[in-house]
Amino acid sequence: MKVHAIQTGTVAVKTRQREGLGRGKRRLANTFLDRQWTDRLPILAWAIEHSEGLIVVDTGETAGTSEPGYFPRWHPYFRTGLREWVAPEVEVGPQLDRLGLSPREVRWVVMTHLHTDHAGGLHHFPDSEILVSRVELDNASGRMGRVRGYLNNRFPEWFDPRGIDFLAEPVGPFPESFTLTAAGDVRLVPVPGHTAGQLAVVVEDGGCSIFFAGDSSYTEDLMLSGAVDGIAPDEVAARRTLERIRTYAGETPTVYLPSHDPDSATRLTQRRLADAAARGPAHEVRD
Ligand SMILES: [Zn+2]
Repeated sequence: MKVHAIQTGTVAVKTRQREGLGRGKRRLANTFLDRQWTDRLPILAWAIEHSEGLIVVDTGETAGTSEPGYFPRWHPYFRTGLREWVAPEVEVGPQLDRLGLSPREVRWVVMTHLHTDHAGGLHHFPDSEILVSRVELDNASGRMGRVRGYLNNRFPEWFDPRGIDFLAEPVGPFPESFTLTAAGDVRLVPVPGHTAGQLAVVVEDGGCSIFFAGDSSYTEDLMLSGAVDGIAPDEVAARRTLERIRTYAGETPTVYLPSHDPDSATRLTQRRLADAAARGPAHEVRD
């Protein structure tokens, strides 16, 4: 199966967003008070050339973010916690065109979650079926959605995705899943933590699993060490998700692809596997 990494610009966040410091409310406060920015990290979307149709996982960010007033000034995260660099030609639509894959031909757009740097390119896919977990959709909607940091006022007018309810069909340590393809080789699993409704896309290809993790962690190492990020609303769920991913990668040869890992694209090209067995004990929380 041909799979493409599509980098739609770069993003910087606080270092303590990438790896949370402390527990509970203090973890969130530490992220906001942090003055140290990460390097510019990739904003990745993915295209999967499946025999049943073209699948896009996440849509990256839009160049519209550089326009004054795009982000709500009243929201502390957008005022202090996020910097982005996106040129019009690196949006997902033009990049698909350059790969010879028209956005109009995309059958499914699967959203890991609806944060701006994953949903910013939605406007390129008016003809595709868009899938979002039901929990994510509920959490992203309305005024409370905007308080949670979803820019739902920027979603396209026609945006009316299919809400996914997971079934009790386990995938390794994941107790529930949703099978997307008739062949059964593309499955969605809930990975709550970074957001309550986040999902991951698991593609079986040539004896290994390609695991599109969204923002389950910011790097492979942070997944293997079980480090919860600095903004996840549910720390317990986040920790359990990281443990499940690590268990999965220990049982099944897995190429692990978070959306902002500078090494994700290379790992995909080389089909380099996560070495879950080689790691020590899970992450210890420092204060
Ligand atoms: Zn996110």
